[in-house]
Amino acid sequence: MMEVTLTCSECGSGVHVLPSTEAKIAKCDVCEKETPVHFSEEHETGILKQCPCCERKDFYSQKDFNRKIGVALFIVAAILSIWTYGISFLVLYAMDLILFRKLSQIAICYKCNTIFRNVSNIKEIYGFNHEMNDRIVYSDHDFNGKQLEHH
Ligand SMILES: [Zn+2]
Ligand SMILES: [Zn+2]
Repeated sequence: MMEVTLTCSECGSGVHVLPSTEAKIAKCDVCEKETPVHFSEEHETGILKQCPCCERKDFYSQKDFNRKIGVALFIVAAILSIWTYGISFLVLYAMDLILFRKLSQIAICYKCNTIFRNVSNIKEIYGFNHEMNDRIVYSDHDFNGKQLEHH
C-alpha cells in the first residue's frame, strides 16, 4: 500500500497517512494540527497522479536514502580504517552497492514536499528538475503533471 508522509505546516514534523477515501484529515502527532487530505480510489491502489495535500500534479522521484545513516556509516568506516588499513572503506563501498542501489524510489511533491512510498506508477515520475522546482516554489507555477522537457 502507498504510504504518504506529509510535512506538518505548523511544526514541520512528518505526519504519516495511509491513503483511504475515508480519510479527510491527517493529524500531527506532535502539535495535533489537522491537515486536510483528499484521497481518491487511485491513491488506494497506489497510483499517484494528484497530491492529496495540495492537489497539484507535479512530482519528482528519488532514492529513499537516509542521509543520516549514510554519514554515520562513513564515520564508522573512517574510524575503522585506522586498524583495517582502509579495508573498511572497501566494505562500505560494497555495502553501498548492495544496500543503497537496491533502495526503492520515492515520489515527492514539488509544491508541498509530501513524500510517497510504494507508488505503483513510480516509473512514470521523472527525477528532480531544478527549473520546475524554481518555477513551482518561487512563482507558484502549475505544470499540471506535464514534465518540462528541453529540446
Ligand atoms: Zn505538527
Ligand atoms: Zn502536494
